[in-house]
Amino acid sequence: MPSLIHTLQKIVKKVDQAPDIQHALDAIVENLIDALQVDICSIFINNEEEEENLVMMATHGLNEGAVGSIRLKTGKGLVGLVARKAEPFRVDNALERKEFVYFEGSGEENFPVFLGVPIISQRKILGVLVVQRRENPFDNDDEAFLTTLATQLANAITHAQSSGHITRLLTEGQESVSCTLTGIAGAPGMSMGQAVVISHGIDLHNVADKAIAGDEAIRKETVSFDIAVELARKTLLAQAEMLKQSLPEEECAIFVAYAQMLDSGSLIDDTNRRILEGNWAPAAWSKTVLEHAEVFASMDDEYLAERANDIRDLGRRVLQRIMSKQPGERSYPQKLVLVGEEISATDLASVPLDRLQAIVSEHGSAASHVAILAHALGLPAVMGATNLPYTRMEGLPVVVDGYSGKAYIHPKQELLNHLLMYIEQEERIADSLLELKDKPALTTDGFRVSLYVNSGLMSDHTPSLRSGAEGVGLYRTEIPFQVRESFPSEDDQFTIYRDVLQTFEGKPVVLRTLDVGGDKPLSYFPINEANPFLGWRGIRFTLDHPDIFIAQVRAMIRANEGLENLHILLPMISSLQELDDALILIHRAKDEVEEEIGAELRFPQVGAMIEVPSTIYQIEEICQLVDFVSIGTNDLTQYLIAVDRNNEAVAELFSSLHPAVLRAIRQVVAGAERQQTPVSVCGELAGDPMGVMVLLGMGINSLSMSTGSLPRAKKVIRSFSLEEMRAYLEEAINMPDAQDVRDFYIERLDERGLGKFIRAGY
Ligand code: PEP
Ligand code: MG
Repeated sequence: MPSLIHTLQKIVKKVDQAPDIQHALDAIVENLIDALQVDICSIFINNEEEEENLVMMATHGLNEGAVGSIRLKTGKGLVGLVARKAEPFRVDNALERKEFVYFEGSGEENFPVFLGVPIISQRKILGVLVVQRRENPFDNDDEAFLTTLATQLANAITHAQSSGHITRLLTEGQESVSCTLTGIAGAPGMSMGQAVVISHGIDLHNVADKAIAGDEAIRKETVSFDIAVELARKTLLAQAEMLKQSLPEEECAIFVAYAQMLDSGSLIDDTNRRILEGNWAPAAWSKTVLEHAEVFASMDDEYLAERANDIRDLGRRVLQRIMSKQPGERSYPQKLVLVGEEISATDLASVPLDRLQAIVSEHGSAASHVAILAHALGLPAVMGATNLPYTRMEGLPVVVDGYSGKAYIHPKQELLNHLLMYIEQEERIADSLLELKDKPALTTDGFRVSLYVNSGLMSDHTPSLRSGAEGVGLYRTEIPFQVRESFPSEDDQFTIYRDVLQTFEGKPVVLRTLDVGGDKPLSYFPINEANPFLGWRGIRFTLDHPDIFIAQVRAMIRANEGLENLHILLPMISSLQELDDALILIHRAKDEVEEEIGAELRFPQVGAMIEVPSTIYQIEEICQLVDFVSIGTNDLTQYLIAVDRNNEAVAELFSSLHPAVLRAIRQVVAGAERQQTPVSVCGELAGDPMGVMVLLGMGINSLSMSTGSLPRAKKVIRSFSLEEMRAYLEEAINMPDAQDVRDFYIERLDERGLGKFIRAGY
């Protein structure tokens, strides 16, 4: 028997390449017959919308006519038993079990040795995988094998399921199946646009499908393909020539062989055929390459099987050439939704922002930086949309509900009408909030709250200014570092900081020192760590690189000259020593600048971020060293409840409304109050209508949030009294978990008619 890992890889790959769910399931059963040496292999899929929910969707060994007609309810038959118990089950004589249900004509009676395992993803039963034999009982090893396979296949099946929907969608036109995906609510709001797929790197598996029509389009794709092939071929021959000088001839032969494959032959012919059939060149080539590679990969001869890698390697080289011709030609729809496996900050910058309506990303969560950026731009985002079939979504209409985390891909007319109503309501809410712009954030009993914006993404500060913000409560300086190809110089930084300090002249601007590491990598300074969030991040990185830190602080201090509205904020502080060290460097930077300009400068206000749990317990000592503290609820939540803020698998556990987080914040507020140190909150909780109520309930009077959140936050503040919010907090903080807290505050918002601020259609 081939090794488990080999079998797994082979099957998962086949499923990946399958055009729809049926082909994917057929590929699984076909391959398992040999791999496990069984007589029957069947897959039942759980279709919760039907009464008899377990439907046999593929089989090898049973009567194929039974596919689609053998159906069982969870709990019925041996298959139903596996689904109900969510556990593997094996038996040597299935027919004698009382649970056994016989289906006339299935042919099952001759194969009584039974092993079934559930296919589970995210606690949901997706289906049941069954193998049967005439004789020869299954043992523990078989069970372990199939269980491992089922866990691997769960993902592949859901992926194929979604992809299948999309394929049908593409081929059957407007009236066909629609697809709704549920991910994580990344940034609130609802909007609609056409999908623009972002793919990172050159991956043969991830090339978006795009149909082309008309002779001119076909001609263009053919020419683009020919040019790419020719360029790749010439490069290969030149490389072979060059390598010949330092390597033995046989080592260079591979380059020549690659070049020959590009001369003519089935790789070229099949690609041209696909283009003629209406595929754009990147997809036509990728499909052809993968198909050829697969033929080699399935050969038993190890040497020949290895050639599959060569073909894929060659495939990537050519694909790179074809793709490098595509970006220039890319045109964007008027309203676009950015879709991809992992959308990044730089991806946002790569499309016309004025056309961008929403974001849907397969990976990431609400606390991912890209979600925060979406929030800042006032765009709905759905994160962690597992199994997002992004490669097949280019150009499809997508409605994004950033409240519930749903992405509706090509919704049917009836659903679309409904969704459009919500979108209109969103627009009405935004309009109605405009009148609040110049009004103060004052509770009904006169408690005044200062509202600031979080900034950093855009050089254009107009939206922040227009929102009525009283300053910038958090400027994430890492973003200008991330979108460059090398560290920005002190002068570059000076220009950026001066611009923001000047724009908000007379108002406080909190510039945070570089907070890279974790999920904010610098492409030109790669850090490889097993646990990046617990590693070289924020202040730890900059203290180890005083050159970078000092240059940054110097730029800030120079930019502040004559404006005096600079506040410096230090991220990821976990000990007093770090604060001491940072303060020494800030003093040094100030002294240097003073000496250079020959004038005395005022020392800027310096604050510490409270986002690492250790600081909760040393809050008073920290307050003695700084002028203010700012609570970063995103990281505080991540570190306090040990939930990776970017991991969609645990995203449901990530909630800053967790009572433990609320208690931690309250402790920080109390400690800072004893030291008479101002406290503000700049994590996402500060812009969440429920978070606003919680934080005011603690007596916090300074909140910094995305521009898009500001009007709603103000409306919430102006709708309640401080006394009410204090009383609500007393109740909420003693609740057992985050969901109770959430439900409680939703009710309070609903009572004032503000439920629509946290979900669409209310
Ligand atoms: C936070 O952690 O809450 C915060 C505001 O910082 P960032 O999201 O940039 O890590
Ligand atoms: Mg943080």
